[in-house]
Order: sequence, then structure tokens, then C-alpha cells
Amino acid sequence: MPIDATLPYDDSNLFARILRGEIPAKRVYEDEFALAFHDIAPQAATHILVIPKGSYVSWDDFSAHAPEAEIAGFVRAVGHVARDQGLVAPGYRLLANIGADAGQEVPHLHVHLFGGHALGPMLAR
Ligand code: AMP
Repeated sequence: MPIDATLPYDDSNLFARILRGEIPAKRVYEDEFALAFHDIAPQAATHILVIPKGSYVSWDDFSAHAPEAEIAGFVRAVGHVARDQGLVAPGYRLLANIGADAGQEVPHLHVHLFGGHALGPMLAR
């Protein structure tokens, strides 16, 4: 069920639990600012989620409230994962859903990283 991205952060959410190691995930990268793991229901040959370690509901919350170092660290981590997965030359897509209209389901900021083949049109119509 899509979330209301204006609600306060709830640290019982699924990705907070993955960050704390309470729920397993197929981790591909971790540093001071970010964790990356495979999406449990991949929608492309490569479908990785990158999440910040800080407690942010969405991109909106993160872009408004995160300190510069966390923003820089997270953006660098997303780029690192894409390079590490060999996605730069063939190309890849980043996507972040924010709130109900976008269908955001987990109330902890996550960037989807898709790749591995031609991804088709940006949005289904
Ligand atoms: P969104 O709709 O943007 O909030 O995306 C949530 C994503 O989390 C979906 O693509 C789900 O397949 C994925 N997901 C849900 N549970 C898990 C899990 N336990 N481990 C990894 N990915 C998950």
C-alpha cells in the first residue's frame, strides 16, 4: 500500500530493519552513508535498491533535511554501485518513488537502480 510521504519517520519500517540486520538482504555494497541490496522482486535483470543510513522517509525529506555530507555520501554511493555493477557503458536508470501518486511503499528513502538490458520507455502509459 502506498505511503503518505509527509508522515514522520517510523523506524519499524522494512528498510530500517534491513539496516539493523533484523531482516536479511542480498547486500552488494555498504559504506558510512549507504547500503545497497538486491530488490526482492526484480523488475529488470539488475534491480538494486540503494538506501541512506540516515532516517529519511523519502527523497523529499532527505533533500530538505539531510546534512551536506550525507547527501554527498549517498549520491556517491549510488554512482559507485552503478559503476561496480558494470552499468555505466550499457546504461542504466535511477528511480525514486515519493508518496502515494508514485506508489512508494516503504517509508525509508530508496533509489531503484535498473539495468542489464534496454529498459524501454520511461513510463508505462
Ligand atoms: P517502492 O514502491 O518504490 O517503495 O519500492 C519498494 C521496493 O522494495 C519494491 O521494489 C519491492 O520489491 C522491494 N522490497 C520489498 N521488500 C523487500 C525486501 N525484503 N528486500 C528487498 N527488497 C524489498
